[in-house]
Formats: sequence, structure tokens, C-alpha cells
Amino acid sequence: MPNTPYDNLLAGVPTELYIGGEWRPASDGARLDVTDPATEAVITSAASASVDDAKAAVDAAAAVGPAWAAKKPRERGEILRKAFELIVKDGERLARLMTLENGKALPDSRAEAAYAAEFFRWSAEEAVRNLGQVSTAPSSGARILVQHKPAGVAVLVTPWNFPAAMATRKIGPALAAGCTVVLKPASETPLTALALVPLLEEAGVPPGVVNVIPSRRSGAVVGEMLKDMRVRVISFTGSTEVGRKLIHAAADNVVKPVMELGGNAPFIVFDDADIDAAVEGAMIAKMRNMGEACTSANRFYVHAAVHDAFVEKFAARMRSLKLGNGLEDGVAVGPLVNAETRDKVVHLVADAVAKGAKVVTGGKAPDGKGFYYPATVLTGVSDDAELLREEIFGPVAPIQTFRDEDEVVARANATEYGLVAYLFTRDLSRGLRVSERLEFGMIGLNRGIVSDPAAPFGGMKQSGLGREGAHEGLMEFLETQYVSVNW
Ligand code: NAD
Repeated sequence: MPNTPYDNLLAGVPTELYIGGEWRPASDGARLDVTDPATEAVITSAASASVDDAKAAVDAAAAVGPAWAAKKPRERGEILRKAFELIVKDGERLARLMTLENGKALPDSRAEAAYAAEFFRWSAEEAVRNLGQVSTAPSSGARILVQHKPAGVAVLVTPWNFPAAMATRKIGPALAAGCTVVLKPASETPLTALALVPLLEEAGVPPGVVNVIPSRRSGAVVGEMLKDMRVRVISFTGSTEVGRKLIHAAADNVVKPVMELGGNAPFIVFDDADIDAAVEGAMIAKMRNMGEACTSANRFYVHAAVHDAFVEKFAARMRSLKLGNGLEDGVAVGPLVNAETRDKVVHLVADAVAKGAKVVTGGKAPDGKGFYYPATVLTGVSDDAELLREEIFGPVAPIQTFRDEDEVVARANATEYGLVAYLFTRDLSRGLRVSERLEFGMIGLNRGIVSDPAAPFGGMKQSGLGREGAHEGLMEFLETQYVSVNW
């Protein structure tokens, strides 16, 4: 086998299925290619699970479920704490691997490795906070004893945009709660999830508690697992389109759906905002992960009185971002994950421009290999431009103006999504008043980032069901049982 520039980064990264604590090929030998978005070269392949493999993974998870649930909460917590430490220690290698398979620039990958680790630290702390309740029934005088028990086997399905953090955000609370899991990572980015496995083993996660099965046949594989009565939770992060299908599939066995779906985040700048702070916030809200985030600012509403000042400063910052291979020093904008994602961005910008938008910076994909698209700012975007309704999932900021609070609230809420909204104002009472009126699960008030393991992450409307992180994240993997006691 000839040496390739990728050998260093891929050394020691498993590429088989991980079922019941063992590495094995797919039952039918199928594999899926993994591509470097910076060069379009196939860098390796991973085993692609069949329906039989999925059944075997559920068997493995179910077999050890009772033993894992019976472990003392502190023991489960200590294992998660160790996993946190191991990921932190191995952060640079994981970051480079993420950049290799996803494209995102190294600073984004490093931030994700740290963020991913934090879900294990938080879950380690939550593992010992599964509290119950005792009360007296008002009429009968019986005692009401409430406790929370692990739900059972959980199927976890994750997207490619945060290949480490979306996995740990689910594995952490599931294991803390006493559930065992089968993880199906995105086909574009299976390596990061597989690379986490040796760290989990070293931390002391017993065989069968976590199973990882990449698969190109996602629909069939996940569908099969949802037919198994032992599966009690489906925790999914991805598009609203696929989420809807999984909610339907989960209905047959009444499996609990936890759905972190798409977004269409408004970013509102009032006329009294600190413009430098708003620009700083916009850079994070738009450019974290190059716009490939469900939380990415998708529509900018800037008060007419400060529009020009904001655009000038924001466009200057966007223009200064270096586009290139995410593994290179100084690069802030790596390639998008695949041709489809890049082509969608190209199409959305062309549509906006055809409908009257002005390109202030960026706006053209470079020629040559790699799924590149530069940081782009558009002004004068018309209301019927497609990119105001669709997730852009790229480094493009469409800016419109507004004049009035009621008007901007109505425009911000005019979407089927409700994940996150951002607003900037120096007037805190206005900030809180407008926050309450916005139909979004999360609000960044004078902040361009809301993601935090200690906060309940999730959306309203068609952005999802349930929450991840905080105490709510643990509760999603627990069932409530109440015992009525004749005291
Ligand atoms: P996707 O919906 O295409 O895929 C997500 C996962 O589902 C992948 O593992 C994929 O292989 C799998 N999948 C695809 N079809 C399936 C099917 N029929 N049955 C079962 N599984 C199936 O999403 P993506 O393109 O990987 O990720 C981008 C999307 O994820 C965006 O819409 C983004 O907003 C969303 N997202 C949401 C959050 C959140 O927390 N709300 C976080 C990150 C990404």
C-alpha cells in the first residue's frame, strides 16, 4: 500500500463496525467511501452496516442493558468523566480527523473537540442527579413515590456537520441515565465517531453499551431498529425532512422521539445595538462551522438607521477570512462537506442575485478541486429570495432592513422553524420583551452563540421535539415510574 498524505491522520482510526465490543466488517462486506472535501479524493472506506448488522447491534445493546442500568450512578459518572479527560487529551488528533472528513477549518474542529468532550463532563455530573420525589396524595393520604428509570436501548442518529459533538451530546446523557446505545453516524463522516470508540473503551465503557454502525443504507437500518420492541428512544439530529420520517416510523412501536432538526435563524440588529458587538456576534453566528450549522444565522434583519455601518464592518471582517484547505494554518473557511451542499449554496446565491440582491463580498465559488465557497455578504435581498426560507448551510449572509419592532418580530417568526434567534440591543428590557415574542427554543441576546452543555438545546415548531444538554437532556433517556404506597 503506497504512503498517502492521509496516512498519519488515519493511523489507528478504526473503519469497521463496532458491535458488542468487537470490530467486524458488514455482514455482506459492504463499505462506504470517505472523501476529503478539500481535494475530492477518496481517503479511505468504512464498513457500511446491513439490516442484519443493525439487528446484531440492538441484540448487543439489549444484552448488557440490565447490567449497565444496575451499575451505581457514580460508577457510570466516573467512566464518563474519564472519557471527557481522554477526549481532551486527544483533542488535536480528533480535530484533524474531523477537518479531514468534514472540511471545516482547524479552529472550528478544535472548538468542536472541546465542546464534544464537555458533554461527557456534564453527563458525568448529571449521572448522580437522577432525583425522585415523595408526596402525599391529597385525598387518599397514600404516598406518591416518583422515580426515573433508564428507558432501554436508544438508537442515536447523527449528522455530518458536528461529527463528534452530536455523538457525545447523545451518548453522554444516555449512558448517564443507564441506557445502552446504537449510534449510526452520518455516512459523510463516520471516522470521527469510530475514533471515539477506543477512548470510550479506555475510559471503561463495557462491551455492548455503545455500538457504532455507519451505514449507507440509513433508512433501512434505522427503520429495522425501530421495529424492535427493545428500542425505546430514537434520538436524531439532522434535517426536518428525515426527522419527520423517523417520527412516523417511531409511531408503530410508540418509541420516544427526541428530534433536533433544521433551523432558519433570524439575526436582528436594533438601532441602539453596539455595532461592534453585533458584528462580532454575527461572525460567530454566521461563520461558526462555515455556516454548516443548524444554529447558523440565516436571515439578517438590520435596522435601517444602522444598516450601512453594520454592513461595512461586517463585510470587512468577512472579506478578511482566508479560504483554503482546513488543515492549513491561517485558514478560517474550509471547503463545504460535499458537492451537493456547495451546489445548493451556489444556487441560492444565484437566485437571490437574480431577484435583485447585491453582492458586497464573496459570491463566487473558485474553480478547481474542493467544495469551496467564500464568505459572502448580500444586501438588498428581496422577500421572495429562496435563501430566506431555506437553510443555506454555507457561509452566506443575506441582509435586509427593518424599521419597527412589531414588524421585525413578525418577519422573524414567519417560518416553520423555531430553533434559535439572535438579537442585539443595548436596551435590556427591549431585549427580553422581544425574546419572549420570538417563537424559538433558544435566543442569543447580545450573543452570537447559544450552544452550551449546561443549557437545554432544542427547537420549537418544526425544529424539533425534546432537548439535549442541561438536566432535560438526561430526562429524555429516563422513564418516570410512580408507586402509590399504602404508607
Ligand atoms: P440528514 O437529515 O440528511 O442526515 C442526518 C442523519 O440521518 C445521517 O446520519 C443520515 O445518514 C441519516 N439519515 C438520512 N436519511 C435517513 C432515513 N431515511 N432514515 C434514518 N436515517 C437517515 O442531515 P445532514 O445533512 O447530515 O445534517 C444537516 C441537517 O442537520 C440540517 O438540517 C441541520 O439543521 C440539522 N442539524 C440540526 C441540529 C440540531 O441540534 N437541531 C444540529 C446539527 C444539524
